[in-house]
Amino acid sequence: MNSPTVSPSQVPVGVDPNRPSIARVYGGFLGGKTVYEVDRQVMKKINAAVPEAVDIARGNRGFLNRACRFLTVQAGIDQYLDCGSGLPAAENTHEIVQRNNEEARVVYIDNDPVVLAHGRALLESNDNVHMVSADIFRPTEVLENEMVRRSIDFSRPVVLLQVGTLHHLEGEGGPAVMKQYIDALAPGSYVVFSHFFDPQVPELSEIARRIESILVNGPMGAGRFRTRPEIMEMLDGLELIKPNATAEPDLAPCDDWWPDGPRLTPLSKAAQCIVGAVGRKP
Ligand code: SAM
Repeated sequence: MNSPTVSPSQVPVGVDPNRPSIARVYGGFLGGKTVYEVDRQVMKKINAAVPEAVDIARGNRGFLNRACRFLTVQAGIDQYLDCGSGLPAAENTHEIVQRNNEEARVVYIDNDPVVLAHGRALLESNDNVHMVSADIFRPTEVLENEMVRRSIDFSRPVVLLQVGTLHHLEGEGGPAVMKQYIDALAPGSYVVFSHFFDPQVPELSEIARRIESILVNGPMGAGRFRTRPEIMEMLDGLELIKPNATAEPDLAPCDDWWPDGPRLTPLSKAAQCIVGAVGRKP
């Protein structure tokens, strides 16, 4: 399969009320209010196909929050590059990490003008937080951005977040994109990563295919569920940390990555179709 030069998600959605946006649909599943009618139509289709689809968004965001808390509290990292940050949510990266270290620096990157407008208004709450417009699938554009270079010292450990983003890149370019980012990080840096997952188990793959077909064939044109080997290729060069006390270092369903407490109810099928990992650059 040849990779298309540009994925639909690389063409900024603009503020056209007739085009659904990844950020608004995802924000809508998280309970956000910035949702247009056209986004509601996409959410309705997904809910009709997989009523538990909301578990994917919630699992993903919970993972992001716990990983940031872990990396600021345990690893003591004080610089965060949050790629494809999305609309401001109930808790955002800078709020989590600055709770532990108010000097921590956070740069949010997105290409959706609605995210950029809301982000500048709500996220840039102090001088250590910035919102930058760039295409996260063109790492040079991010890594050479003036604000990124001014805020992040790449000679010291950084946390790079690519949470719920790479599945919006069509084709097979993911490993090359991630390699460029990982190469730019100092030893001791961490990558927080999550991705739609096809567990290659018939009843779960079927759920993955149902959602993928709505996302890829619909007006957003983006959202691939990839297999374990395909996802692992994007994390090449990193030492994954254990996702919980008993597991070996590996990918894990986002909800199972160091959950806040013991699981009292089984994971839904949809929740098993998104995985997360935190990897350290040796
Ligand atoms: N990272 C957040 C989280 O996990 O909660 C938001 C994930 S949301 C599913 C994906 C985000 O990536 C959206 O805000 C979307 O606008 C952004 N995005 C998608 N393609 C992008 C691109 N090529 N450049 C910059 N941002 C992009």
